[in-house]
Amino acid sequence: MTQTPITGGCQCGAVRYQISAALEKAHICHCRMCQKAAGNYFMPFATTDRKALTYTRGSPTWFHSCDPVRRGFCNRCGTPLMLDDTREDPIYVVLGSLDDPATCPPEYQSGTEGRYDWITQLDALPGHTTEGDGETPPQWVKEICESNHQHPDHDTENWEPKS
Ligand SMILES: [Zn+2]
Ligand SMILES: [Zn+2]
Repeated sequence: MTQTPITGGCQCGAVRYQISAALEKAHICHCRMCQKAAGNYFMPFATTDRKALTYTRGSPTWFHSCDPVRRGFCNRCGTPLMLDDTREDPIYVVLGSLDDPATCPPEYQSGTEGRYDWITQLDALPGHTTEGDGETPPQWVKEICESNHQHPDHDTENWEPKS
């Protein structure tokens, strides 16, 4: 599905990972636990062989959302990164944390008991780009772009933490 090694990490760059195997079972989960853990309406995952996953900078902090399942996130910036069902060999990677999430589109949905009816109608909502579709970007957008603290979507030699 994707070229290996696959890389990713959190928003601030304190946690970076590399995956030397394919991602499988790409899906989105609508269950209430995933909604809370993501702060979102659903969470995107794929599985990979846990031996293929290495942390190249830092490591996640874990929260057990139930006894067998722990969720890994960056304790500096809060980005959800992993879901580890300790009863299974594969580990789940949160797809929004990949450096290139577009390479791993979802193949199915789970936790559909929690799916909101209007999810299927999102494409009909009006939309615009961050910069406003060709208009001169407003000042608040310029300030966001010019003071970006987000780690770039690739590995870096040095990491300068920003608060
Ligand atoms: Zn972080
Ligand atoms: Zn879920």
